[in-house]
Amino acid sequence: MGVGQKPHAILVSYPLQGHVNPSVHLAIKLASRGFIITFINTQSIHHHITSKKATTTNGDEDDIFASVRKSGLDIRYTTVSDGLPVGFDRSLHHDEFMASLLHVFSAHVEETIEKIVKNATPAVNCLIADTFFVWPGKLAKKYRLLHVSFWTEAALIFTLYYHMDLLRFNGHFGCIDLREDEIDYIPGVKSINPKDLTSYLQQMDTTTVCHQIIYKAFKDAKDADFVLCNTIQELEPETISALQEKIPFFAIGPIIPTKCTKRTVSTSLWTESDCTHWLDSKPQGSVLYVSFGSYAHVSKSDLIEMANGLLQSNVYFVWVLRPDLVSSNDKNPLPEGIIKEVGDRGLFIPWCSQARVLAHQAIGGFMTHCGWNSILESIWCQVPLLCFPLYTDQFTNRKLVVDDWKIGINLCDKVQMNKLEVSQKIKQLMMKESGEEFRNAIKKVKCMLEKALMADGSSEINMDNFFKEIEGKIQ
Ligand code: UDP
Repeated sequence: MGVGQKPHAILVSYPLQGHVNPSVHLAIKLASRGFIITFINTQSIHHHITSKKATTTNGDEDDIFASVRKSGLDIRYTTVSDGLPVGFDRSLHHDEFMASLLHVFSAHVEETIEKIVKNATPAVNCLIADTFFVWPGKLAKKYRLLHVSFWTEAALIFTLYYHMDLLRFNGHFGCIDLREDEIDYIPGVKSINPKDLTSYLQQMDTTTVCHQIIYKAFKDAKDADFVLCNTIQELEPETISALQEKIPFFAIGPIIPTKCTKRTVSTSLWTESDCTHWLDSKPQGSVLYVSFGSYAHVSKSDLIEMANGLLQSNVYFVWVLRPDLVSSNDKNPLPEGIIKEVGDRGLFIPWCSQARVLAHQAIGGFMTHCGWNSILESIWCQVPLLCFPLYTDQFTNRKLVVDDWKIGINLCDKVQMNKLEVSQKIKQLMMKESGEEFRNAIKKVKCMLEKALMADGSSEINMDNFFKEIEGKIQ
């Protein structure tokens, strides 16, 4: 590459909503700083994003970045098959989907990357890929590209997976007689209880497809040239410092759409219901927003307790009831008659623009599965959380929210949810006096995020440093 030439990165997003959102916004962030980005989406994700009513009216169905390109950013776009038909129900057949990503996707993506590398002007010099992929190191080496691993979750989760061998060696993972005492030997993690590990680190069977993905992905990520992480230095200082002793790790978050985001694109996989009108009619801070993200499932019995708990609490609520929340085969899981009983006190919708709903002044709390994007978005809008983690990183995220930052409450520790507990916890979070400590705490954490994004803030400085290092390596 000649002096002054722009870096050109291929960016490959993991095909799940919680990964596509930060990847798209990372692409925009990098392009705004002068990168040329060639973004690769799977055909299935592309189909979901572009087949919604809202996007088919602008005539740009084939390119999700068309609007930001018009504003001068050089983001190119292409799609690739994940190995399964576009119409395949990936939520219902999760294991098959993961197996396809593990065994089939790499061949498809390699073909596409080879074509781009051969034909692109200016030449491609970086491969930015989600840390959960198992092939980026191999392909980066083959095509002589810098390997940038993009971690969309908390640094704490990264370090737990990074140190899986240490957990195994100490008997906290992958053995029959698992230790139940506190884990205090992971560099940069003062102490963590085994119940707060990610679900994959708590399972007895450690040979699943997801485990294979995690082992291979972290073996690969350990040799990456850089890791970009959607977190904030001030939120996880010790963990990040310890990681930086091992790997070039840059905290550049929060990578979320904010009111200050000048350029943005729609990344929703489903049509968004507009609840602005309903929210406008409710008092400030009076509505609980309930959502369990894009992928997790809730058991039918928990859902029924939740619905009855919400009813008993007498609090207003908006509930995102994804059609596959319980199962793709149970599209109507609510207790009979509850919608009528709730009346105007509750709104049930299949999907929404969460960032927009959380930013509405009527929202006063968020009952969440503790997905990492949801947590960052909630902090950004200063909405305290009621935590009900379901799987993967969500248990560890709950520890950060409830124990470390004290910006939320744990919904229930018991295996079986109970409507009385649900209604009591909702009231605790939403009532003026009992919820005050969480609102004060989240205000302070929001301040950290805001500062990190200022010109002299940690995330901006880290991004500058990353950019300089990339430039230095590709001259
Ligand atoms: N989301 C949304 N509308 C909804 C529910 C979720 O736009 O009705 C978005 C949310 O804003 C977040 C993403 O979907 O950016 C979910 O990511 P998260 O990490 O919270 O959870 P996941 O879906 O990965 O479990």
